[in-house]
Amino acid sequence: MMCSRVVFRCFKTLERLGDRLTGAAGPFFVAFAVILIGLGIVCFFDVVMPSLPWPLISGPLCVLIALNLVMHYYYVVTVSPGFVEDPPREPKDSVFWASKRRQKEGKLTGVRWSNELVITRATVTKCRKCGQSKPERTHHCRICNRCVLKYDHHCPCAYPSIAYDIALRYPGVNQCVGLHNERHFVMFMAYLVFSCFSLCITGFPHLDWPHHVPQIAFVLEYILAVVMFLAVGIMCSYHLWTIAHGETTVESHDHEVYRRIAKSRDESFVNSYDLGKRRNLELFFNIGQNGYPLYTLILPLRINPYTDGRSWARREGYEQHRGVRRGEELTDEDDDDDQEEGA
Ligand SMILES: [Zn+2]
Ligand SMILES: [Zn+2]
Repeated sequence: MMCSRVVFRCFKTLERLGDRLTGAAGPFFVAFAVILIGLGIVCFFDVVMPSLPWPLISGPLCVLIALNLVMHYYYVVTVSPGFVEDPPREPKDSVFWASKRRQKEGKLTGVRWSNELVITRATVTKCRKCGQSKPERTHHCRICNRCVLKYDHHCPCAYPSIAYDIALRYPGVNQCVGLHNERHFVMFMAYLVFSCFSLCITGFPHLDWPHHVPQIAFVLEYILAVVMFLAVGIMCSYHLWTIAHGETTVESHDHEVYRRIAKSRDESFVNSYDLGKRRNLELFFNIGQNGYPLYTLILPLRINPYTDGRSWARREGYEQHRGVRRGEELTDEDDDDDQEEGA
């Protein structure tokens, strides 16, 4: 008993150390990512693009892909994920924001209302770590030490701007992926995978070297593109799979546990946020009926999510998940060593 407690404490200490290191390394991760992405773009435009056929079509297309890559990364890093104490956000009237389709019925009030969607208010609990009211799908991030709406994960490669950081009085933290920047995160991954794939395919036969970029830099970027295509390709596919099932990264782990709990009672677990693959994807990217136009998938524009994070679209007839009962849901506190210390 004593021994297991010591082992548990050791693991917790290591975990906290990992969190601190992740927090401290955030700016370096971002600086490294910016240099590699920038160098990759320079390599492509200097070496590969002049040899591409149909320059009038391939040129603008490559510029558009590079713009999407850079802008979505910029948005992931600078757009706050959405915290529980933030007021609901309205889309801004600037060139970086996509304009919404004209609404046929009603006016939007932070949540995308539609006759076809069943949208209900989220149940609210209190966070035992920061004391804030916490709507469903909100999680407390240990690194940011705040409650994040529709928390997905904490990303060390998304370091908020210094001004934003100082304003939040959390120097040293890096950024969560949540309600307001998760779309940009997935779009960034998708464009990164596509860009790496394009560089792998088109950059291969370049042996003679009349270019500005040193050949060694191009070779290293090429190897990196192969690795990133595989690694980020798997990550992006996993994220799209969870989105298509109406889950975040945290929820996909939680739902595995709920499935086992339900199975032990000969019941089956049903995720109430799962509206079917197509609808889930439409809601995540906020496109389709009553959403933003499809062109927002190919232009690097900002858009708001379909909800303010305090209401959620659900399957018809499902006020909550089926197969898991109240009190059985996993909470952030399950991972808290305060409980262990109190025990
Ligand atoms: Zn909290
Ligand atoms: Zn965080």
